[in-house]
Amino acid sequence: MKVEIDPNSGFCFGVVTAINKAEEYLKENEILYCIGDIVHNSREVDRLGNKGLKAINHQEFQEMHDCKVLFRAHGEPPLTYKIAKENNIEVIDASCPVVLNLQKRIRNAWELGKKDNIQIVIYGKKGHAEVNGLVGQTNGEAIVVEGVEGADVIDYTRPIKLFSQTTKPLDGFRKLSSHIAERAQAKFDIYDTICRKVSNRIPELREFAKKHDYIVFVSGKKSSNGKMLYNICKEENENTFFIQSASDLDLSIFKDIETVGICGATSTPRWVMEEVYETLINL
Ligand code: SF4
Repeated sequence: MKVEIDPNSGFCFGVVTAINKAEEYLKENEILYCIGDIVHNSREVDRLGNKGLKAINHQEFQEMHDCKVLFRAHGEPPLTYKIAKENNIEVIDASCPVVLNLQKRIRNAWELGKKDNIQIVIYGKKGHAEVNGLVGQTNGEAIVVEGVEGADVIDYTRPIKLFSQTTKPLDGFRKLSSHIAERAQAKFDIYDTICRKVSNRIPELREFAKKHDYIVFVSGKKSSNGKMLYNICKEENENTFFIQSASDLDLSIFKDIETVGICGATSTPRWVMEEVYETLINL
């Protein structure tokens, strides 16, 4: 049986930078707090947890004083920075530069658009950490739309500026853009702000999924990027299996198979895919 790990799977640079910053600090210190899981992968969270990284929620953050807290790649709303300042919390800011740039663009669009009663619409997942950070740039006024089905909350009589959460799929963004364009009664501007680190992976992953008999997709259950990329693999290859780690593998199904491809989300550590590789190659 030939086993191959997808060379394009694994952490994006935003996540790599956040993890490096945490590990760097923990080389010399025993504990570092992080708002939320640094990455949506429980294995990596556990590995860093053993080194001293401790996830806290926003409520806990609000009650902390005089300590150091890491902001992960998803970014934070202005309120979190304000609390840090008031509570003398030193921030290790690992917000991804792509997300920071998007925050800035949304803030500018909102501020400049006030006089024209512009409506900021964000294509994204309600309650997602990155989306909360984006909505925070508009004092909570931006509307979050998860897809065409939820688009009836938009006021089509007002000018609209549409942005996207960085990890949403391009085709969903295009569908929503056309849906709004058909209904808009005032100026409508579209800003495609989807991160190409994620969207470029889709065509590559389709090719990878097609060329193997079986696909083992490795990801944490909480990762929305993981769910999306798993579905892409499943569309191309119905023999696609979702696992979180090598121990989830049902080894009985890998008999008389010629090729297996291992791939994962942007939040899947390389070392977890390598464990799966070792398990399969030893069969
Ligand atoms: S997916 Fe893109 S925007 Fe999001 S953390 Fe990774 S590099 Fe940054």
